[in-house]
Amino acid sequence: MIFENLRLTDPDVYEAVQNEIERERKNIVLIASENYASKAVMEIQGSVFTNKYAEGYPGKRYYGGCEYADVVENLAKERAKQLFNAEHVNVQPHSGSQANMAVFFSVLKPGDTILSMSLSHGGHLSHGASVNFSGIFYKTVFYGVNKETGMIDYEEVRRLAIENKPKILLVGASAYSRIIDFEIFSNIAKEAGAYLMADIAHIAGLVAAGLHPSPVPYADFVTTTTHKTLRGPRGGLILCKGEYAKVIDKTIFPGIQGGPLVHVIAAKAVALKEAMAPEFKDYQSMVVRNARKLADELLKNGFNIISGGTDNHLMLIDLNNKNITGKEAEEALSIARITVNKNVIPYDQRSATITSGIRLGTPCVTTRGMGEPEMAEIADIITSVIHNSKNESAINSLRLRVESLCERFPIY
Ligand code: PLP
Repeated sequence: MIFENLRLTDPDVYEAVQNEIERERKNIVLIASENYASKAVMEIQGSVFTNKYAEGYPGKRYYGGCEYADVVENLAKERAKQLFNAEHVNVQPHSGSQANMAVFFSVLKPGDTILSMSLSHGGHLSHGASVNFSGIFYKTVFYGVNKETGMIDYEEVRRLAIENKPKILLVGASAYSRIIDFEIFSNIAKEAGAYLMADIAHIAGLVAAGLHPSPVPYADFVTTTTHKTLRGPRGGLILCKGEYAKVIDKTIFPGIQGGPLVHVIAAKAVALKEAMAPEFKDYQSMVVRNARKLADELLKNGFNIISGGTDNHLMLIDLNNKNITGKEAEEALSIARITVNKNVIPYDQRSATITSGIRLGTPCVTTRGMGEPEMAEIADIITSVIHNSKNESAINSLRLRVESLCERFPIY
């Protein structure tokens, strides 16, 4: 990452990217939705494909000169189809939210009902939150997690589905640490006469590696981002049954997007190839083992974890017994150079800007090569930071332990 031309053209942006490289090098990132894309992915994303207009689809473009854009889009489509065993794939969504928008626009009319997981219980903004287009255009009904178990209450989902007859039953989350039973969701959708849509943005890498059951056999539509556990470029994709191929493609273009981001689609193709390699499976299984170890160590240190642990790459910590808010914990950890995000917990008494929880995930630290001994060390550092959150000198000395871990496991 030399950026020689950038340095001459725009010293301000050059300085920002150098600082970002240093930040990524020197911080332990536990943000569950982030990862480090490979050098191959970054190379192609910064390539000449950024210059190309390619409205339409391979073989049916509205611009000349698309022969190589067709090559990379076909590769991305074929690889995604194979990796997820899907009947149809659209690799053009610019983001996860746009993938979701495309599914809604394909089968819903304004005012139709979506039944999805509440944002405050782990769902996503684009699943019908009132501040998002999805909550503005559609009527939304939410299910949550059981107060005692912290897990999805499938009986509640069934009751709400039968009562409200949603057009879409949406399953998928941003902060849920347990296995999701897509078969039960599919049965409920059938009973209620709803389409089943699964948003696997967070767990796509685990699903690709066979470490989380796949919704593809059960769901009419599956959406995902490509940049979280899947470890590709920032973007989205849609997998669907063959019968919906036409409507999904038409909704993405010309419905809600113009020119596809060919450089990002090419990077998706590369990431999907990486995801088909045996090492990817090893990586994902280490992500899960690391999350379990981190959760176990934090539990030993007296932390409460929603649902009591994790089956996937993330966990949601309830800080109520630690006399610190999510916001304060995020800030204290950041001084020690551990990057996390504050997160509301189910039934939270605090607002989304303060919160009573933090969300932790292991995709980034696992990409750095860290394993279970390092998870124990990180859990120990987190515990000391939280217990000494007002003690600057204690946090400064804990930062030295973070520095040493980062030096032992360089990312760039
Ligand atoms: N769906 C879920 C479950 C997510 O967690 C996210 C992002 O965090 C998205 C969709 C949206 O993705 P994007 O930020 O690319 O719009």
